[in-house]
Amino acid sequence: MACDYIALANLGVQKLTPYQPGKPIDELERELGIKNIIKLASNENPLGPSTQVLQAIEKVKPDLCRYPDGNGFTLKSALCEHLSVSADQITLGNGSNDVLELIARAYLAPGDEAVFSQYAFAVYPISTQAVGATPVVAPAKDWGHDLNAMLDCITDKTKVVFIANPNNPTGTWFGKSQWQAFMQKVPESVLVVLDEAYIEYVENDDALNGLDYLNQYNNLIVTRTFSKAYGLAALRVGYSLSHSQVANVLNRVRQPFNVDSFALAAATAALNDVNYLQRSRDMNRRGMTQLETGFDRLGLKYIPSMGNFITVFFEQDGGLLYQKLLHEGVIVRPVGNYGLPKALRISIGKPEENQRLLDALERVL
Ligand SMILES: *Cc1c(COP(=O)(O)O)cnc(C)c1O
Repeated sequence: MACDYIALANLGVQKLTPYQPGKPIDELERELGIKNIIKLASNENPLGPSTQVLQAIEKVKPDLCRYPDGNGFTLKSALCEHLSVSADQITLGNGSNDVLELIARAYLAPGDEAVFSQYAFAVYPISTQAVGATPVVAPAKDWGHDLNAMLDCITDKTKVVFIANPNNPTGTWFGKSQWQAFMQKVPESVLVVLDEAYIEYVENDDALNGLDYLNQYNNLIVTRTFSKAYGLAALRVGYSLSHSQVANVLNRVRQPFNVDSFALAAATAALNDVNYLQRSRDMNRRGMTQLETGFDRLGLKYIPSMGNFITVFFEQDGGLLYQKLLHEGVIVRPVGNYGLPKALRISIGKPEENQRLLDALERVL
């Protein structure tokens, strides 16, 4: 071939490894010709969508021919009311993934550094490299973020620090005291992205809520999503909360209609469906205990998790075990790409799904 189109791409993009999503159920159906598959691979909400959300989506259908509200007025108003923030602090995204990319696009360029932890969410290196900036990986401690090690990685080239709390794929978390000590030492010119995709599941006295620090730290960006506890993964909607100047900047690189009309209506309805959120939490707490008890019985070690998933260790390769589980009709997530080759990440499902996973594990081990 005369021209190498990979070599033509931006330098950072040439070196990118694309995000590996959890295997969709119908893909496995096609591949193996089996039915009754369960998916515990993408931290999706096992409850299914809320009735109020389905009704809200129904009402949008007659307006399918119209562009969405590019300013997301109704959803922003609902967020302002629920979170006691002002509308000019909010940036809506096509999933919070979109917001993470907006941050990278607006604030990172070749020569700049972005700091994140070992075992951090795969989207941080992808977003960083895609804009030609340099990822700097701080060593983890007990599988979690070591905020002191992250501080040590900050140089005068650092523009952004990405932190997930709780973290995916490890489920680890940190509390207020560690966080405060960290934020006090980060220079004002370094943006700290606190990714709270799983915050709704955290039940702990020392629980950290990033929103409590927005007034104190102008360099703080908190990102959240409707994909997990609110059960809207298919619709792609998330947001960030930040200083209004940061939101102003993010808005400049946001595509005009990045959140569609169904997602806007659904997210507004989801915020108001307090009962659904409570049921999500309850199912998650019980499912977590069910899996932990099952793993204990099988003699398996796992990382205690505050998310809606748990990472469990084996004496064999996680990739092979993943394949064996596929043949049992159970989709989980291999995490070799995260540097955890002998582990699997398992999302918390319905009680019967958790049991099926445990039974399948027992058979294949
Ligand atoms: C799932 C997840 C997200 C959210 O993704 P969406 O794009 O909002 O669906 C963000 N951060 C982490 C750490 C996640 O695990």
